[in-house]
Amino acid sequence: MQYDVVIVGAGPAGSATAWHLATAGVRTLLVDKSRFPRDKVCGDCLSPRAQHGLARLGVLETVAAEAHAASCIRFRAPGGAEASARLAGADNRPARTLVLPRYRFDHILQRHALAAGADFRVAHVRTLLPTGGVELDGTAVPAQLVVIATGAALSLIKRTPFAPPGPVHTVAARAYLRGIRSPGPDLRIFLDRLPLPGYAWLFPTGPDSANLGYWYAGRAPMPVAGRLATLLAEHPALAGARADSDDIGRIAGYPIRCDFLRAPKAATGVLAVGEAAGLVNPFTGEGIDYALESAELAAVSAQAALRRAGAGGALAAAALADYPRALNRRFRGLFRVMTAARRYGANPWVFDRLFGRGRHGQDLVDRLVQVCFGAAPPTRVLAPAALAPLLLSRPRRPVTDE
Ligand SMILES: Cc1cc2nc3c(=O)[nH]c(=O)nc-3n(C[C@H](O)[C@H](O)[C@H](O)COP(=O)(O)OP(=O)(O)OC[C@H]3O[C@@H](n4cnc5c(N)ncnc54)[C@H](O)[C@@H]3O)c2cc1C
Repeated sequence: MQYDVVIVGAGPAGSATAWHLATAGVRTLLVDKSRFPRDKVCGDCLSPRAQHGLARLGVLETVAAEAHAASCIRFRAPGGAEASARLAGADNRPARTLVLPRYRFDHILQRHALAAGADFRVAHVRTLLPTGGVELDGTAVPAQLVVIATGAALSLIKRTPFAPPGPVHTVAARAYLRGIRSPGPDLRIFLDRLPLPGYAWLFPTGPDSANLGYWYAGRAPMPVAGRLATLLAEHPALAGARADSDDIGRIAGYPIRCDFLRAPKAATGVLAVGEAAGLVNPFTGEGIDYALESAELAAVSAQAALRRAGAGGALAAAALADYPRALNRRFRGLFRVMTAARRYGANPWVFDRLFGRGRHGQDLVDRLVQVCFGAAPPTRVLAPAALAPLLLSRPRRPVTDE
């Protein structure tokens, strides 16, 4: 065999897995259906947790040098009240988010993996070999392990033991605005005048440009690109930003998978990482951080399994069982809380009691942001002392629309 591991998909999960494996001397092939650089529909926001993952890959400074840094997130509640949260930077994580378009970000990561020794091929993978490996353009490429890092795309996964039971997608869309006079320094999240659960965002990508988008996290069918177009025409803040800009890029939609709690993660000769394992936060819609972390966990499990197995065919499912266990230890509690937060908390009643309530509401907002970004354990938002103000505080008068 020329390769020990073939990784399908060179987004953050695939490239990070390739970097970890190649750095450890594992013969690694990274495959993507697109030639790089390529676009990926995204909000482009790198949480403090994602930056921690980038630091572990040794690529944080390169990314930060090109990105827009923001240390404050501003929210607008369904009733119009506003609140903001400053990032705390707990646990050795930077007190900022970074925003860098995926066209650049993914290319930096993919090149980083190749510099560590991984090979790269452009090919649309449609077939896994029953004996281990993949078929690339009609040629068998055997390997002891295939890592599925195909994101929300299901075409390959449906032909593997990872086929998710039932529908798994939510939908989101984004557009870039260029030539804005002042997008401001902060990230902005809008929960007003749109269907919940979900939110619209305005994330500055630089001094005169921004990524705008809308994620609908509900189950009802939603033509989300059309809905974003309507928001850009009618939502006061988004329409204001659009009117202020001299160039709007194409509105592009893409699905999001958040089904980590149900998704299969390992089978004989195959592992899933990142969004292919359903690893996107069901409350915030961000998943680059978990993509990077699952990559590291997968690489550790893969190396141990390869060492134990020696040369041979596809790694047995039992040899890979460490990996789903490690994922569950790391993510299950968080995903349970975030799934419940989406189901019971992402509605006007809760948001209107959370935002714009002064000190008590602010405390809960700060806790929630810390939990979402991995700077505090999920139980921190469930403490009765944190939830009481939500029930007891009185609404304030909403701010006027800009
Ligand atoms: C509109 C939108 C906004 C978002 N905003 C944010 C955000 O601000 N911050 C955040 O952290 N997350 C955000 N997310 C989620 C984030 O995009 C994903 O969590 C992240 O991209 C997952 O990384 P990944 O490497 O698992 O998959 P991907 O980044 O989707 O990469 C998958 C790769 O696999 C390749 N591929 C797929 N199928 C095949 C095949 N059969 N053969 C070969 N190659 C294949 C694709 O070409 C692609 O390059 C957003 C998602 C959407 C849709």
